[in-house]
Amino acid sequence: MATFETTLRYKNLNDRDLVENNYELYDSVLIQAHLLAYSKKAVPLLIRDMAEERSFNYYIDPMISDFRIGTNFRDSDGDVRGWHNRYVEILGDPLREVLDENPNADASLLDDDAVRGICESLVDYQENFIYDRLREEAGKYEKVSVEPHEVQPKAVIPWVHKVERIEDIQTCRQILTHTQAAATISLKPCIYTTTGFARDTTNRTQLTKLLGEFEVNECFLVFEELKKYETSESEYKTVIDLVYDLYQSGVKPHFYYGDFFANLLSYFGLSGMATASLYDEEFTEKLEYSGGGGLPARYYLDEVKDFLKVTAAVDIMNRVDAPMCDCGFCEKHFDTWQDLAAREESEDALKPILKKHRMALRWRHGRLIEENNLEDVLDELEDDFLNIVQAYSASPMKSPSKQLDYLPKWINAVRDREALAVEELGQLQFV
Ligand SMILES: [Zn+2]
Repeated sequence: MATFETTLRYKNLNDRDLVENNYELYDSVLIQAHLLAYSKKAVPLLIRDMAEERSFNYYIDPMISDFRIGTNFRDSDGDVRGWHNRYVEILGDPLREVLDENPNADASLLDDDAVRGICESLVDYQENFIYDRLREEAGKYEKVSVEPHEVQPKAVIPWVHKVERIEDIQTCRQILTHTQAAATISLKPCIYTTTGFARDTTNRTQLTKLLGEFEVNECFLVFEELKKYETSESEYKTVIDLVYDLYQSGVKPHFYYGDFFANLLSYFGLSGMATASLYDEEFTEKLEYSGGGGLPARYYLDEVKDFLKVTAAVDIMNRVDAPMCDCGFCEKHFDTWQDLAAREESEDALKPILKKHRMALRWRHGRLIEENNLEDVLDELEDDFLNIVQAYSASPMKSPSKQLDYLPKWINAVRDREALAVEELGQLQFV
Protein backbone atom coordinates (compact mmCIF):
# COMPACT_ATOMS: atom_id res chain seq x y z
CA MET A 1 0.00 0.00 0.00
CA ALA A 2 1.38 3.33 -1.01
CA THR A 3 1.58 6.08 1.57
CA PHE A 4 2.44 9.66 0.93
CA GLU A 5 4.41 10.76 4.00
CA THR A 6 2.78 13.73 5.70
CA THR A 7 5.38 15.49 7.81
CA LEU A 8 4.60 18.16 10.39
CA ARG A 9 7.30 20.77 10.80
CA TYR A 10 7.65 21.38 14.56
CA LYS A 11 9.08 24.89 14.80
CA ASN A 12 7.05 26.56 17.48
CA LEU A 13 6.60 25.48 21.09
CA ASN A 14 2.87 26.24 20.74
CA ASP A 15 2.57 23.32 18.33
CA ARG A 16 3.24 20.78 21.04
CA ASP A 17 -0.50 20.14 21.34
CA LEU A 18 -0.69 19.14 17.65
CA VAL A 19 2.27 16.79 17.93
CA GLU A 20 0.95 15.20 21.09
CA ASN A 21 -2.77 15.06 20.41
CA ASN A 22 -3.28 15.06 16.64
CA TYR A 23 -0.91 12.27 15.67
CA GLU A 24 -3.64 10.81 13.45
CA LEU A 25 -3.00 13.75 11.06
CA TYR A 26 0.69 13.17 10.35
CA ASP A 27 3.16 10.37 9.65
CA SER A 28 6.31 12.04 10.92
CA VAL A 29 7.55 15.21 12.61
CA LEU A 30 10.44 17.41 11.46
CA ILE A 31 11.82 19.17 14.53
CA GLN A 32 13.80 22.37 14.04
CA ALA A 33 17.23 21.82 15.62
CA HIS A 34 17.20 25.10 17.52
CA LEU A 35 13.75 24.47 19.00
CA LEU A 36 15.11 21.22 20.38
CA ALA A 37 18.26 22.95 21.66
CA TYR A 38 16.19 25.65 23.28
CA SER A 39 13.62 23.42 24.95
CA LYS A 40 16.31 21.03 26.21
CA LYS A 41 14.01 19.00 28.46
CA ALA A 42 10.44 19.37 27.21
CA VAL A 43 10.95 18.12 23.65
CA PRO A 44 13.13 15.10 24.61
CA LEU A 45 10.51 14.06 27.17
CA LEU A 46 7.75 14.47 24.60
CA ILE A 47 9.68 12.30 22.10
CA ARG A 48 10.19 9.65 24.77
CA ASP A 49 6.49 9.59 25.63
CA MET A 50 5.44 9.45 21.99
CA ALA A 51 7.94 6.66 21.27
CA GLU A 52 6.66 4.65 24.23
CA GLU A 53 3.02 5.02 23.34
CA ARG A 54 3.03 4.43 19.59
CA SER A 55 5.24 4.11 16.57
CA PHE A 56 6.62 7.61 16.23
CA ASN A 57 8.82 8.86 13.40
CA TYR A 58 10.71 12.08 13.40
CA TYR A 59 13.68 13.90 11.84
CA ILE A 60 15.70 16.89 13.00
CA ASP A 61 16.08 19.79 10.57
CA PRO A 62 19.75 20.72 11.08
CA MET A 63 19.08 24.43 10.29
CA ILE A 64 22.74 24.99 9.64
CA SER A 65 22.10 26.32 6.15
CA ASP A 66 20.84 29.40 8.04
CA PHE A 67 24.46 30.39 8.60
CA ARG A 68 25.51 30.22 4.93
CA ILE A 69 24.86 33.85 4.00
CA GLY A 70 23.31 37.00 5.45
CA THR A 71 23.06 38.28 9.00
CA ASN A 72 19.59 36.99 9.94
CA PHE A 73 21.02 34.92 12.80
CA ARG A 74 23.01 37.79 14.38
CA ASP A 75 21.87 40.71 16.55
CA SER A 76 22.92 44.34 16.02
CA ASP A 77 26.19 43.73 17.92
CA GLY A 78 27.01 40.86 15.60
CA ASP A 79 26.44 38.15 18.23
CA VAL A 80 24.56 35.00 17.32
CA ARG A 81 20.94 35.42 18.47
CA GLY A 82 19.29 33.52 21.33
CA TRP A 83 17.83 30.33 19.87
CA HIS A 84 20.54 29.93 17.27
CA ASN A 85 23.19 30.58 19.89
CA ARG A 86 22.01 27.76 22.17
CA TYR A 87 22.25 25.41 19.22
CA VAL A 88 25.72 26.66 18.22
CA GLU A 89 26.89 26.22 21.84
CA ILE A 90 25.72 22.62 21.85
CA LEU A 91 27.37 21.83 18.49
CA GLY A 92 30.51 23.56 19.80
CA ASP A 93 33.70 23.88 17.78
CA PRO A 94 34.50 24.03 14.91
CA LEU A 95 31.17 25.75 14.08
CA ARG A 96 31.40 28.16 17.03
CA GLU A 97 34.93 29.12 16.08
CA VAL A 98 34.01 29.57 12.42
CA LEU A 99 31.16 31.92 13.34
CA ASP A 100 33.41 33.85 15.76
CA GLU A 101 35.99 34.46 13.09
CA ASN A 102 33.84 34.80 9.97
CA PRO A 103 30.54 36.40 9.13
CA ASN A 104 29.12 33.07 7.91
CA ALA A 105 29.65 29.32 7.73
CA ASP A 106 29.63 28.46 4.04
CA ALA A 107 30.84 24.89 3.48
CA SER A 108 32.32 25.77 0.09
CA LEU A 109 34.68 28.30 1.73
CA LEU A 110 35.87 26.24 4.72
CA ASP A 111 38.82 23.87 4.92
CA ASP A 112 38.12 20.16 4.98
CA ASP A 113 38.84 19.75 8.70
CA ALA A 114 36.23 22.34 9.61
CA VAL A 115 33.64 20.80 7.28
CA ARG A 116 34.33 17.36 8.71
CA GLY A 117 34.10 18.60 12.30
CA ILE A 118 30.79 20.35 11.69
CA CYS A 119 29.35 17.30 9.91
CA GLU A 120 30.37 15.11 12.86
CA SER A 121 28.79 17.44 15.40
CA LEU A 122 25.55 17.45 13.40
CA VAL A 123 25.44 13.66 13.36
CA ASP A 124 26.14 13.49 17.08
CA TYR A 125 23.40 16.02 17.78
CA GLN A 126 20.77 14.22 15.71
CA GLU A 127 21.65 10.72 16.89
CA ASN A 128 22.33 11.36 20.57
CA PHE A 129 21.10 14.69 21.92
CA ILE A 130 17.65 13.45 22.92
CA TYR A 131 18.85 10.31 24.68
CA ASP A 132 21.63 12.21 26.43
CA ARG A 133 19.09 14.72 27.82
CA LEU A 134 16.85 11.87 29.01
CA ARG A 135 19.79 10.29 30.79
CA GLU A 136 20.66 13.57 32.46
CA GLU A 137 17.04 14.07 33.44
CA ALA A 138 16.82 10.58 34.95
CA GLY A 139 19.78 11.35 37.21
CA LYS A 140 22.21 8.94 38.74
CA TYR A 141 19.94 6.32 40.19
CA GLU A 142 17.07 6.07 37.76
CA LYS A 143 17.10 4.18 34.49
CA VAL A 144 15.95 5.77 31.23
CA SER A 145 12.80 3.90 30.24
CA VAL A 146 13.70 3.65 26.54
CA GLU A 147 16.69 2.31 24.62
CA PRO A 148 18.77 4.87 22.70
CA HIS A 149 17.62 3.55 19.29
CA GLU A 150 13.95 4.00 20.25
CA VAL A 151 14.35 7.77 20.47
CA GLN A 152 16.60 8.23 17.44
CA PRO A 153 15.35 9.96 14.29
CA LYS A 154 14.26 8.01 11.24
CA ALA A 155 17.39 9.22 9.41
CA VAL A 156 20.16 11.78 9.76
CA ILE A 157 19.78 14.92 7.63
CA PRO A 158 23.29 16.11 6.65
CA TRP A 159 24.33 19.75 6.45
CA VAL A 160 22.16 21.35 3.75
CA HIS A 161 24.30 23.22 1.20
CA LYS A 162 22.56 25.18 -1.53
CA VAL A 163 23.33 23.90 -5.04
CA GLU A 164 23.25 26.78 -7.49
CA ARG A 165 26.54 26.22 -9.33
CA ILE A 166 28.09 23.00 -10.55
CA GLU A 167 30.93 23.43 -7.98
CA ASP A 168 28.39 23.15 -5.18
CA ILE A 169 27.92 19.47 -6.05
CA GLN A 170 31.51 18.83 -4.98
CA THR A 171 30.84 20.59 -1.65
CA CYS A 172 27.77 18.38 -1.13
CA ARG A 173 29.91 15.33 -1.93
CA GLN A 174 32.41 16.39 0.73
CA ILE A 175 29.60 16.87 3.28
CA LEU A 176 28.00 13.52 2.46
CA THR A 177 31.35 11.71 2.70
CA HIS A 178 32.03 13.04 6.21
CA THR A 179 28.45 12.59 7.37
CA GLN A 180 28.23 9.02 6.16
CA ALA A 181 31.53 8.17 7.87
CA ALA A 182 30.23 9.50 11.19
CA ALA A 183 26.61 8.28 11.14
CA THR A 184 25.38 4.98 12.55
CA ILE A 185 21.87 5.31 11.06
CA SER A 186 20.88 5.96 7.44
CA LEU A 187 21.18 9.35 5.76
CA LYS A 188 18.39 11.31 4.13
CA PRO A 189 20.23 14.20 2.45
CA CYS A 190 18.36 17.37 1.58
CA ILE A 191 18.90 18.64 -1.96
CA TYR A 192 18.44 22.40 -1.89
CA THR A 193 18.55 23.95 -5.34
CA THR A 194 16.93 26.40 -7.75
CA THR A 195 14.76 25.84 -10.82
CA GLY A 196 17.45 27.75 -12.76
CA PHE A 197 20.02 25.10 -11.88
CA ALA A 198 17.72 22.11 -12.28
CA ARG A 199 16.48 23.18 -15.72
CA ASP A 200 19.71 21.86 -17.24
CA THR A 201 19.66 18.10 -17.89
CA THR A 202 23.39 17.75 -17.16
CA ASN A 203 22.92 19.42 -13.78
CA ARG A 204 20.06 17.09 -12.89
CA THR A 205 22.21 14.13 -13.88
CA GLN A 206 24.99 15.40 -11.58
CA LEU A 207 22.52 15.53 -8.69
CA THR A 208 21.21 12.00 -9.20
CA LYS A 209 24.75 10.72 -9.70
CA LEU A 210 25.82 12.32 -6.41
CA LEU A 211 23.09 10.56 -4.44
CA GLY A 212 23.86 7.31 -6.28
CA GLU A 213 27.44 7.43 -4.99
CA PHE A 214 26.19 7.31 -1.40
CA GLU A 215 23.57 4.64 -2.01
CA VAL A 216 20.84 6.55 -0.24
CA ASN A 217 17.29 5.61 -1.20
CA GLU A 218 15.52 8.69 0.14
CA CYS A 219 16.23 12.39 0.07
CA PHE A 220 14.54 15.65 0.94
CA LEU A 221 14.17 18.23 -1.80
CA VAL A 222 13.66 21.99 -1.60
CA PHE A 223 13.62 24.62 -4.32
CA GLU A 224 14.45 28.23 -3.52
CA GLU A 225 11.37 30.48 -3.70
CA LEU A 226 8.86 28.12 -5.25
CA LYS A 227 6.14 30.69 -4.60
CA LYS A 228 2.78 30.01 -6.21
CA TYR A 229 2.27 33.64 -7.27
CA GLU A 230 5.68 33.97 -8.89
CA THR A 231 6.60 30.57 -10.29
CA SER A 232 6.14 30.07 -14.03
CA GLU A 233 4.69 27.04 -15.76
CA SER A 234 8.10 26.13 -17.18
CA GLU A 235 9.63 26.28 -13.69
CA TYR A 236 6.96 23.87 -12.47
CA LYS A 237 7.91 21.55 -15.34
CA THR A 238 11.53 21.67 -14.17
CA VAL A 239 10.41 20.66 -10.69
CA ILE A 240 8.54 17.68 -12.16
CA ASP A 241 11.63 16.72 -14.19
CA LEU A 242 13.93 16.66 -11.15
CA VAL A 243 11.44 14.70 -9.03
CA TYR A 244 11.04 12.21 -11.88
CA ASP A 245 14.80 11.88 -12.47
CA LEU A 246 15.47 11.28 -8.77
CA TYR A 247 12.73 8.69 -8.55
CA GLN A 248 13.97 6.94 -11.70
CA SER A 249 17.48 6.80 -10.26
CA GLY A 250 16.17 4.92 -7.23
CA VAL A 251 15.95 7.80 -4.73
CA LYS A 252 12.56 8.78 -3.33
CA PRO A 253 12.38 12.55 -2.93
CA HIS A 254 10.36 14.14 -0.09
CA PHE A 255 9.53 17.86 -0.22
CA TYR A 256 11.09 19.84 2.66
CA TYR A 257 8.48 22.57 2.09
CA GLY A 258 5.53 22.43 -0.27
CA ASP A 259 1.99 23.31 -1.25
CA PHE A 260 -0.67 21.29 -3.06
CA PHE A 261 1.55 21.05 -6.13
CA ALA A 262 3.62 18.56 -4.11
CA ASN A 263 0.61 16.26 -3.98
CA LEU A 264 0.49 16.32 -7.78
CA LEU A 265 4.20 15.51 -7.83
CA SER A 266 3.46 12.24 -6.07
CA TYR A 267 2.46 10.84 -9.48
CA PHE A 268 6.01 11.50 -10.65
CA GLY A 269 7.68 9.89 -7.65
CA LEU A 270 7.49 12.36 -4.76
CA SER A 271 7.12 10.34 -1.55
CA GLY A 272 5.98 13.00 0.92
CA MET A 273 5.89 16.60 2.04
CA ALA A 274 6.74 18.63 5.14
CA THR A 275 5.14 21.91 6.17
CA ALA A 276 4.35 23.72 9.38
CA SER A 277 0.90 23.84 10.95
CA LEU A 278 0.22 27.14 9.14
CA TYR A 279 2.08 28.69 6.17
CA ASP A 280 5.63 27.55 5.38
CA GLU A 281 4.70 26.22 2.00
CA GLU A 282 7.88 27.55 0.42
CA PHE A 283 11.43 28.39 1.42
CA THR A 284 13.55 31.47 0.81
CA GLU A 285 17.05 31.84 2.17
CA LYS A 286 16.94 34.68 4.72
CA LEU A 287 19.49 37.45 4.54
CA GLU A 288 18.27 39.72 7.31
CA TYR A 289 16.53 39.28 10.62
CA SER A 290 12.83 39.70 10.05
CA GLY A 291 11.59 39.87 13.63
CA GLY A 292 10.24 37.16 15.86
CA GLY A 293 6.60 38.23 15.99
CA GLY A 294 3.70 35.84 15.47
CA LEU A 295 2.10 35.48 12.06
CA PRO A 296 -1.48 36.62 11.45
CA ALA A 297 -4.32 34.11 11.37
CA ARG A 298 -5.07 32.85 7.85
CA TYR A 299 -7.64 30.34 6.70
CA TYR A 300 -6.57 27.59 4.29
CA LEU A 301 -9.21 27.65 1.60
CA ASP A 302 -9.25 24.21 0.02
CA GLU A 303 -10.98 25.38 -3.16
CA VAL A 304 -7.98 27.56 -4.04
CA LYS A 305 -5.29 25.58 -2.16
CA ASP A 306 -4.01 28.69 -0.42
CA PHE A 307 -4.12 30.70 2.83
CA LEU A 308 -6.41 33.73 2.78
CA LYS A 309 -7.41 36.37 5.29
CA VAL A 310 -10.39 35.02 7.19
CA THR A 311 -12.62 37.84 5.92
CA ALA A 312 -11.61 37.09 2.31
CA ALA A 313 -12.23 33.36 2.67
CA VAL A 314 -15.64 34.00 4.23
CA ASP A 315 -16.60 36.52 1.55
CA ILE A 316 -15.62 34.20 -1.31
CA MET A 317 -17.36 31.18 0.14
CA ASN A 318 -20.53 33.19 0.71
CA ARG A 319 -20.43 34.43 -2.87
CA VAL A 320 -20.40 30.86 -4.23
CA ASP A 321 -22.87 29.77 -1.55
CA ALA A 322 -20.59 26.95 -0.39
CA PRO A 323 -21.37 24.87 2.70
CA MET A 324 -19.11 25.13 5.77
CA CYS A 325 -15.90 23.07 5.63
CA ASP A 326 -16.52 19.49 6.80
CA CYS A 327 -12.98 18.74 8.10
CA GLY A 328 -14.33 17.94 11.55
CA PHE A 329 -12.69 20.86 13.33
CA CYS A 330 -14.52 23.64 11.46
CA GLU A 331 -17.84 21.82 11.82
CA LYS A 332 -17.34 21.51 15.55
CA HIS A 333 -16.84 25.25 16.01
CA PHE A 334 -18.77 26.97 13.21
CA ASP A 335 -22.19 26.39 11.69
CA THR A 336 -21.74 29.01 9.00
CA TRP A 337 -18.94 31.00 7.37
CA GLN A 338 -20.28 33.99 9.28
CA ASP A 339 -19.47 32.23 12.56
CA LEU A 340 -15.88 31.87 11.41
CA ALA A 341 -15.71 35.60 10.62
CA ALA A 342 -17.16 36.45 14.04
CA ARG A 343 -14.51 34.36 15.78
CA GLU A 344 -11.72 36.29 14.12
CA GLU A 345 -12.01 39.02 16.68
CA SER A 346 -10.10 36.85 19.11
CA GLU A 347 -7.18 35.64 17.04
CA ASP A 348 -5.61 33.56 19.78
CA ALA A 349 -8.67 31.40 20.16
CA LEU A 350 -8.97 31.02 16.40
CA LYS A 351 -5.44 29.98 15.49
CA PRO A 352 -5.50 26.50 17.05
CA ILE A 353 -8.66 25.73 15.03
CA LEU A 354 -7.10 27.10 11.82
CA LYS A 355 -4.07 24.87 12.37
CA LYS A 356 -6.12 21.74 12.92
CA HIS A 357 -8.27 22.54 9.89
CA ARG A 358 -5.08 22.89 7.81
CA MET A 359 -3.65 19.63 9.10
CA ALA A 360 -6.91 17.79 8.47
CA LEU A 361 -6.95 19.01 4.86
CA ARG A 362 -3.33 18.07 4.31
CA TRP A 363 -4.10 14.61 5.55
CA ARG A 364 -7.06 14.45 3.20
CA HIS A 365 -4.87 15.60 0.26
CA GLY A 366 -2.47 12.76 1.01
CA ARG A 367 -5.32 10.25 0.77
CA LEU A 368 -6.77 11.99 -2.30
CA ILE A 369 -3.73 11.23 -4.44
CA GLU A 370 -3.40 7.70 -3.09
CA GLU A 371 -6.97 6.80 -3.91
CA ASN A 372 -7.47 8.55 -7.27
CA ASN A 373 -5.73 8.56 -10.59
CA LEU A 374 -4.02 11.69 -11.79
CA GLU A 375 -6.62 12.62 -14.38
CA ASP A 376 -9.42 12.63 -11.79
CA VAL A 377 -7.40 14.77 -9.39
CA LEU A 378 -6.65 17.28 -12.17
CA ASP A 379 -10.31 17.36 -13.21
CA GLU A 380 -11.36 18.09 -9.64
CA LEU A 381 -8.78 20.85 -9.34
CA GLU A 382 -9.99 22.34 -12.61
CA ASP A 383 -13.65 22.17 -11.51
CA ASP A 384 -12.82 23.93 -8.24
CA PHE A 385 -10.95 26.60 -10.17
CA LEU A 386 -13.81 27.21 -12.61
CA ASN A 387 -16.41 27.30 -9.83
CA ILE A 388 -14.59 29.87 -7.77
CA VAL A 389 -12.49 32.04 -10.08
CA GLN A 390 -15.18 34.69 -10.61
CA ALA A 391 -16.10 35.05 -6.95
CA TYR A 392 -12.40 35.13 -6.10
CA SER A 393 -11.62 37.89 -8.59
CA ALA A 394 -14.69 39.86 -7.52
CA SER A 395 -13.99 39.74 -3.79
CA PRO A 396 -12.82 43.11 -2.46
CA MET A 397 -11.57 41.39 0.71
CA LYS A 398 -8.66 39.50 -0.83
CA SER A 399 -5.37 41.12 -1.71
CA PRO A 400 -5.85 42.80 -5.14
CA SER A 401 -2.50 41.53 -6.41
CA LYS A 402 -3.45 37.90 -5.85
CA GLN A 403 -4.73 35.92 -8.82
CA LEU A 404 -5.56 32.26 -9.20
CA ASP A 405 -3.22 31.83 -12.19
CA TYR A 406 -1.18 29.26 -10.30
CA LEU A 407 -3.96 26.66 -10.51
CA PRO A 408 -4.01 26.51 -14.34
CA LYS A 409 -0.19 26.63 -14.29
CA TRP A 410 -0.06 23.53 -12.08
CA ILE A 411 -2.61 21.76 -14.26
CA ASN A 412 -0.85 22.68 -17.53
CA ALA A 413 2.61 21.76 -16.27
CA VAL A 414 1.40 18.38 -15.06
CA ARG A 415 -0.59 17.68 -18.26
CA ASP A 416 2.49 18.57 -20.30
CA ARG A 417 4.53 15.97 -18.42
CA GLU A 418 1.72 13.43 -18.08
CA ALA A 419 3.59 10.81 -20.11
CA LEU A 420 6.11 10.57 -17.25
CA ALA A 421 3.46 9.91 -14.60
CA VAL A 422 2.71 6.46 -13.32
CA GLU A 423 -0.84 5.25 -13.86
CA GLU A 424 -1.52 4.44 -10.28
CA LEU A 425 0.29 5.55 -7.20
CA GLY A 426 0.50 2.00 -5.88
CA GLN A 427 3.14 1.32 -8.53
CA LEU A 428 5.50 3.70 -6.79
CA GLN A 429 5.78 1.37 -3.81
CA PHE A 430 6.53 3.85 -1.10
CA VAL A 431 7.90 2.75 2.26
ZN1 LIG B 1 -12.09 22.83 8.16
